[in-house]
Amino acid sequence: MADQIYDYTGPARVCHDGHVYYNEHVMREAYELPPLEDRDRTKASIDEPLDVIISGGSMGGLFAATAMRQAGHDATVYERTEAGKMKDRGAGIIAHPEMLAYLESQNIADWDELATVTNRTQHLNREGEPIDTEGRATYTTSWDTVYRNLRAEVPDDRYRMGKQIVDVDQDDDGVTVTFQDGTTETGDLLIVAEGYRSHTREQFLPDRSPEYAGYVAYRGVVPEDEVPAEYETRFGDIYNLYHAPQSQFLTYPVPGPNGEMERGERRINWVWYYPFEEGEALDNLLLDDQGRQRSHSLPPGLMREEVHDEQIEIASDVLPEQLQWLVSATTEPFVQCIYDLAIPELVFDNVCVIGDAAFFIRPHMAAGTAHAAADALELAESISNTDDLETALAEWETDQVEMGYRLVEEASRRGDRYTGQF
Ligand SMILES: Cc1cc2nc3c(=O)[nH]c(=O)nc-3n(C[C@H](O)[C@H](O)[C@H](O)COP(=O)(O)OP(=O)(O)OC[C@H]3O[C@@H](n4cnc5c(N)ncnc54)[C@H](O)[C@@H]3O)c2cc1C
Repeated sequence: MADQIYDYTGPARVCHDGHVYYNEHVMREAYELPPLEDRDRTKASIDEPLDVIISGGSMGGLFAATAMRQAGHDATVYERTEAGKMKDRGAGIIAHPEMLAYLESQNIADWDELATVTNRTQHLNREGEPIDTEGRATYTTSWDTVYRNLRAEVPDDRYRMGKQIVDVDQDDDGVTVTFQDGTTETGDLLIVAEGYRSHTREQFLPDRSPEYAGYVAYRGVVPEDEVPAEYETRFGDIYNLYHAPQSQFLTYPVPGPNGEMERGERRINWVWYYPFEEGEALDNLLLDDQGRQRSHSLPPGLMREEVHDEQIEIASDVLPEQLQWLVSATTEPFVQCIYDLAIPELVFDNVCVIGDAAFFIRPHMAAGTAHAAADALELAESISNTDDLETALAEWETDQVEMGYRLVEEASRRGDRYTGQF
């Protein structure tokens, strides 16, 4: 295993099949080196521990908080979502094994508690029969499962909800952020993990915004115990892929709503990459059942019935039977628009941008979470290995920009191919 995947000693990089692998964290596991917790991680080489402000409390923000705290810094996450509302993002995530190994090596969670696994990938024909089967394992998890485990690593007084950063100022004392409620905080470093619609990124790079790729992820989850007997062998521990004209459909099992990993207690996650033209067609899809016009996504539970009925109708024309069933059995379908975004600079004095806020990597490489994690881990590492912050940030930026562009480019190429937009 070490020779195939982990034979690389530089900073976090992307390998040929799009896996993001981390410098020494995972290398230690692969080469049976002493685990990281045996090292003295309490003292940063920068004179004093840094006071770190993190904007955004999802994957990128939590990885950043964990990595910075482990490196001896004082990090506080500010998340705009009100307390109790973060749990509604139950979507599936394909997890890179490198990321799972990192989380396990840091004692954040055992691999088995984080992910379930499929033992083969099947390409289906229109009749729903496998026409090609690859016997490789794919690890799958859900946003909630990773969130829950990472969140448990950050003390409550260092994870502040209902705090939206609306402005950033910098001077010799550091970075001052202003929140929507008018309060302010000052720190040595601001890590922006606000996702692809980041307002703070816009403050520094006003002319870089995400560009719609011409299609959406129309998706949902169905409890595994609702799968009818006739389709049981069609799902199970299988990663299914089906290509219809201009669209791609995939399914895989993910943990249950409370992290359940047992077969029958999990959920079948499905994603249908489907083109919707910008303008009338997309607006119609994103108009919610309260009459509110949404612009980038439609959360679960808000889709108008006639919209879903129309998609069920399309499904019956173009999808294999068991996939049609998944679409129609889903009670709360939801939509995420797909974008391209890449920025050439990640560092603005003492502010740095990570994760989706910097690069929207179309989901066809399942690299978004692993990329956000790599940004965060490499940042902490770079700061620990350098004695001044400016140099650390500059070195980090060079590596992460290169990795981000590579991922965005490859993911866009794949997405265009799957949706017939070469
Ligand atoms: C259809 C689809 C499928 C995907 N599948 C996969 C997959 O299989 N595997 C994978 O690894 N990744 C996948 N991804 C990508 C993955 O979900 C993201 O890359 C990852 O969640 C990025 O995390 P993030 O923390 O950078 O951003 P986000 O998850 O977007 O989080 C940003 C956070 O910042 C908060 N915020 C925003 N602005 C402010 C502010 N001003 N002040 C305070 N808080 C703020 C937001 O409320 C939010 O909680 C998929 C994405 C899509 C759309």
